[in-house]
Amino acid sequence: MTRLNLELNGPERAINFAQGMPDFETDPRLIEAAAKAMRDGHNQYATTWGAAPLRRGVAHKQSLAWGREVDPDREVTASCGATEAMIATMLAAVDPGDEVIVFEPFYENYGPDCILSGAVPRYVSLHPPEWSIDPDELRRAFNAKTRAIVINTPHNPTGKVYTRAELELIASLCLEHDAIAITDEIYEHIVYEGEHISMATLPDMAGRTITISGASKTFSVTGWRVGWIIAPPVLSNGIRKVHDFLTVGSPHPLQVAVAAALEFPASFYVELRGDYLERRDAMVSGLNECGFAAAAPGGAYYVMAGIAGFGFDDDLAMADHLIRNLAVATVPGSSFYHDPALGRGHLRFSFPKKLDTIERGLEALRGLKQGSARRP
Ligand code: PLP
Repeated sequence: MTRLNLELNGPERAINFAQGMPDFETDPRLIEAAAKAMRDGHNQYATTWGAAPLRRGVAHKQSLAWGREVDPDREVTASCGATEAMIATMLAAVDPGDEVIVFEPFYENYGPDCILSGAVPRYVSLHPPEWSIDPDELRRAFNAKTRAIVINTPHNPTGKVYTRAELELIASLCLEHDAIAITDEIYEHIVYEGEHISMATLPDMAGRTITISGASKTFSVTGWRVGWIIAPPVLSNGIRKVHDFLTVGSPHPLQVAVAAALEFPASFYVELRGDYLERRDAMVSGLNECGFAAAAPGGAYYVMAGIAGFGFDDDLAMADHLIRNLAVATVPGSSFYHDPALGRGHLRFSFPKKLDTIERGLEALRGLKQGSARRP
């Protein structure tokens, strides 16, 4: 969608509400830290499981958040973003034929990650409008073949922040069926309502949880490719081997720069949340004014907006129309489901954008009115 929009409308006109990628300036302290790391000579391979300052920084941050010591040498592995973290984890921890439970709608990579690792994905619905879990449906998905469950909180694409009760239910099923939890917490610091809870902090779960996060979203550096995995030593061992053969390591100077960013004061996170709250509110109220059915996400930076009122044949037709006629790129809801039919009623709008970009995009969308959109 990003590419089509750029191709048809050029970089000046194209508004990118498709990809979860900031269009605002990177914090100059990060740029300086990266330049310094290069000047200081961190230009060759780091240790494959990650530069020591980054692993120490992640362990320190997580030890404070979780109230237990995280060991930087045996539990933390740096990766090329959360993307590589997830596939390295699955290749290491899942055997061909195992089942992996994935809530849907899901971040696009999880399905292919399962398939690449030979696992059979088993989808469990998050039910709109609250994107709630049906406990019986979840219970039915667990069986003797279940090796893992993937949890993404805060959630892309819905913005759902899993509650303690939901995580407790998942944890009890993992314990009952001897399954591991793989949690993608890349949006851990972008939470508007509720509280971000790590599965690893639930009773008896630290030993069977693999926690994935990274710098892309917290520090707005999606192009740096710095992520990390926190897992018990026995699981970290396997993950490190796969990671070594997949990528050797993520860029050394950028790992060192992210280590410096992990020392930012608490005010950085308060500001990050405040800025995103403003963007979220602008996007949600604007979309509702335009005729979309948009609920405010509790976290992350996406809105799954209902498109029922516009009269398009489906999500693809509408996404195509928005690019061709309004220069606005979105992601069709069907991209987030194993059965595309389930996502036909939504488009995903992402808002890690300048307020001005959000306003320009909404201005273009105001031309659309319920039932009056030109059919493609
Ligand atoms: N996980 C989720 C849920 C995401 O939404 C994204 C990016 O949009 C990623 C992982 C990718 O993260 P990274 O840039 O660290 O690979």
